[in-house]
Amino acid sequence: MYLKANHKRNFIVFKILTFVLLVLFNLSNASRWDYMKLLPLILLTILYNLFIMKRDDKKILNIESIKLKFWGNFILISVILWFLGGMKNLSFHIYFSFIVITSIIFINRLQGIIFAIISSIFFSILFFRETVEFTYYTTFLYIIISSVFFGNFARFYYKKSHVLDRKVKEFEALYKISKIIDAFPSTEIILDNIAEIIAKTLDIDECLIMLYDGEKDILSARARYGKIGSKMGKITFRRGEGVSGKVLVTKERVISSDLLKDRHILNAFKYDFGIKSCAIIPLIYENEGIGVIAVYSKEKYEFTDDNINLLDIIASRIVKVLENNKLYKEVKIRSITDGLTKLYNHRYFYDVLKIEMDRAAMYDKKLFLLMIDIDKFKSFNDTYGHIVGDKVLKEISKIIKDNIRSNDIAARYGGEEFAIILPNSDWEIAHKVAQRIKDKVKDVKDKISELANKDIKITISIGMACYPNCAKNIRSLIEKADLRMYHGKEKGGDNVVFENKV
Ligand code: GH3
Ligand code: MG
Ligand code: MG
Repeated sequence: MYLKANHKRNFIVFKILTFVLLVLFNLSNASRWDYMKLLPLILLTILYNLFIMKRDDKKILNIESIKLKFWGNFILISVILWFLGGMKNLSFHIYFSFIVITSIIFINRLQGIIFAIISSIFFSILFFRETVEFTYYTTFLYIIISSVFFGNFARFYYKKSHVLDRKVKEFEALYKISKIIDAFPSTEIILDNIAEIIAKTLDIDECLIMLYDGEKDILSARARYGKIGSKMGKITFRRGEGVSGKVLVTKERVISSDLLKDRHILNAFKYDFGIKSCAIIPLIYENEGIGVIAVYSKEKYEFTDDNINLLDIIASRIVKVLENNKLYKEVKIRSITDGLTKLYNHRYFYDVLKIEMDRAAMYDKKLFLLMIDIDKFKSFNDTYGHIVGDKVLKEISKIIKDNIRSNDIAARYGGEEFAIILPNSDWEIAHKVAQRIKDKVKDVKDKISELANKDIKITISIGMACYPNCAKNIRSLIEKADLRMYHGKEKGGDNVVFENKV
């Protein structure tokens, strides 16, 4: 069981209050106080508590520290009480019952009962030496035994409310995740939010959501939230590598509440971040591992069945998000590309041309438009058939794609017409691109088996126009490029037509 920082603060306030009360209870004995013994003892008690606080983790109190605190304070404060008012002192009863009750609630029954037995033996010895009266003795026993019962009772409700708290927190986490997914931001934002929600709900040091890129064979973090360090977000694994890479292959969770005990898991770690516990949950889509959720703690962390259930549910939600995103992307790509050539379609070409012309105007850059048409393609189709004609279209598209930069846009404008937008370019470059494409098209014939040994030339004509030099709007820019393309045909085809600087 771990206590959070706010519990820690409450504890300190409670302790100081208890101490002040104990002093007040014993004010009647003030004339007999031996300050030479009391002051060093009080100082020692304060130092002891400061020492424990310092060696303890800043954020959480762990069970070992709590035990040390209880035992140290039990001994030290008992001695102080002795010097404050001796055995016939009501504050002894109060203090012992406080120790018994709180240690049963926060640690375990056994330790509470041990405290109760030690206090009782202590009192019994005094009783049999007849320094304490019988009624006083029985009252004490009554209080201590009641404390054991009361402690157990309180422990039961504390645990119950704790479980309830956790359930509410988990429910909240799932609700938040659903809301984020419904709001439909980008997948990156969804994953970032989910990582944060997991880390906060489990109150754990680090959460990574890693996805696998099959093409590159890399499992890398797409989202992370935590305090173990940014290096954690940069680590990558191949399939089967490290613990996460293994989970990807086996598709089985790896959970360890204490890695020092689960040495075989610890040894499989590829990097050492001083982690003491972990849970790695696979993301499975169509029976394939596509990623993992990994949570880590620098302390021992007791993963409950509820924790794991929550992670499982979140894992399947993430898979759904990724699946939807993939479908969405596919639909989107299909709606803007041409099926045969895989170039952008006419509609998308117009949309992009508009955007790119605005951008060119804004940044005072030149944009070039190339209109391309295959020469005498009708008669080609008539001779070799449409199927071979389609192959020509595909090959020419490939040539176009291979000869433009990644931010240039190539589209199938019509049947056997293509258009290329070259944003942020100049005359020399645009002309070179056009010339290169025109020349390479002549090799298309060699790539199509049906055309082997046929005496045929496949050529194109290209018309080139520049924005803003040649035209001020989208329509006249296209018209100008088109017109020049036809001029090329008039000159016999296999031509690039442009007018320098106009
Ligand atoms: P020009 O040199 O003037 O361009 O002559 P052309 O015969 O190429 O004339 P035009 O550009 O008008 O030719 C259009 C021809 O392109 C008609 C059709 O046979 C062919 N075509 C259009 N779309 C397709 C297609 O998807 N597949 C095939 N195989 N041919 C197509
Ligand atoms: Mg045409
Ligand atoms: Mg043509």
